[in-house]
Order: sequence, then structure tokens, then C-alpha cells
Amino acid sequence: MKCRICGKKPIIYMPQHRLALCREDFISWFERYTERTIKDFRMFTNEDRVLVTVSGGKDSLALWHVLRKLGYNADGFYLHLGIGEYSERSRRKVEEFAERLGAKVIVVDLMEELAGIPELKKATSREACSVCGLVKRYNFNRVAKEYGYNVVATGHNLDDEASSLLANVINWNVKYLGRKYPVLEEEEGFVRKVKPFCKFTEKETALYALLNGIEFVEEECPYSEDASSIFYKETLNRIEEKFPGTKLRFYLEYLRKVYPRFREVEERELQRCKVCGEPSPSEVCPVCRLKERVAERKA
Ligand SMILES: [Zn+2]
Ligand SMILES: [Zn+2]
Repeated sequence: MKCRICGKKPIIYMPQHRLALCREDFISWFERYTERTIKDFRMFTNEDRVLVTVSGGKDSLALWHVLRKLGYNADGFYLHLGIGEYSERSRRKVEEFAERLGAKVIVVDLMEELAGIPELKKATSREACSVCGLVKRYNFNRVAKEYGYNVVATGHNLDDEASSLLANVINWNVKYLGRKYPVLEEEEGFVRKVKPFCKFTEKETALYALLNGIEFVEEECPYSEDASSIFYKETLNRIEEKFPGTKLRFYLEYLRKVYPRFREVEERELQRCKVCGEPSPSEVCPVCRLKERVAERKA
């Protein structure tokens, strides 16, 4: 096999694109493809202020790296989740990387704002990942508005998107089907949310991070071990092995054929939380209710 551009020995073969590329050509392909995804989905332009939510993992740091390289106005946001050493190590990686990029990073400590994930998990019957997702979404949106960013970008890759789609299809979670899209437009109280890496596999983002010497936290969050999402990712990888190209097609065909049908059904009725003023499905938002519970437990 040869690199399609220069004929040298390839470093990767991507069956879904029928494309083999060498080191240099993979790097430039990866960056051009990111740019194209941003443009195709009209995610943002040079005029926008983008806040990249970075966890210290490969995807989000690689995303931040590419966006800066492409000349976008992109700063970082790190939410310290209070998960012991794991969170500390992640914070250090993020701050070191911000220095390397010469970019600004905003750090918010969840333990000061509310409570760490371990404590929040005890205060509710929800799973750690579900509580974590809730406080992340809330804080990404709140902090972006507070600091004047109009777009929040996350490092979700194809494996993330396709596996969560699979899990929701298997459970016929119809509500989900009208909601998952790589761009969620701004609406009352919400900034725009985008996922520029949604068409890259985890393998591709990892390779890009490695080739660029990006130092990321390799360990998974200690709470993710028994998460069902890992099982769905493995299942999808087994299907992909047998039928190469399925993963990307599954996701793209959803965007093209399924999302538009379910989108119309969706209607959201949001009011403002009477405690914090953020958009909320109920009088008091779920995060403020969590706060109340933590306070009750302490009392
Ligand atoms: Zn080449
Ligand atoms: Zn609230």
C-alpha cells in the first residue's frame, strides 16, 4: 500500500475513505477535513469567539490545536470535576498545553461551585456519568456566556457519536433522535454547540495527537469503567471490523435521513430557573436541585 498523495509508505489506512496516507499527508488531510466539516455544517467563522472545552484527553486537546492552527479565535475551558488525582493530572496537562499554544484557558473548580463528582454521585441516585454530563453542559453554557463566547466546541469523535446513536436506537429513545446533531444553534439562553471532530474515528484523533507531540491524559476517567458507552463502542468496532465503513455511514445516514424527520417532533418548553436564571425545564433547574441536595446532606 502507498500514500495516495506522494507514494511513500503510509502510516494509516482509512477504509471508510479508501484512503492511505503518510505522516505528513495525514496531518494536512486531517486539518483540511476539520475545516471542511466546520464549513459544511456552518459551525463558526473567524468572526466567532469559540470556547473549546478541554478535558486533558486526546480529542479535546487535538481539537484546540487544530482550531488554533486554522486561525480560529479559540480559547480553552477546563472544568475541574474533583475526581482526585485524575482531575489534578488532567488540569496540569491542560494548563501546560495552553502555555504551549500561547492560548488562554479558563479553569472552573466544580468543588467550589457545587461539589465534586464523587460527592454529587452520593447525593443522587443517578449514575456518575449522567450527573457529570449534566453539570458539564450547564457549566459550558454558563461560562461561555459569562466570558462572551458565542460558540462552545467539544471534542466528540465519530466513535462517541455513533456509539451513543447505537445505544439510543437500540432503546428506541426517540427524543434523542431529533436532538443529536453536530451543530445545535443558539437559542434563548443557550450558545451554539458544535462538534468539529464528529467524522473522525478515535484512532484518527489519537494519531493526530501523537504525531503532533500533544501530551494528553491517557487514563480513562475512573468512573467510566463500567459505563455502558464503552460496551457500545466495542460492539460498533466489531461490526466495523466485519464491514469496514459501517461506523461512518451509520452516523452520516442518520444525520441525512433520520434527524430531519424527528427534529420536527421535538418541542422544548423552557423557562428560567428561579434560583440561577439559566434555562430550565422546571421551576428550579436540575443543577440547582443538586445543589440543594448536597446542602441537605451536609446539614
Ligand atoms: Zn504522502
Ligand atoms: Zn438553576
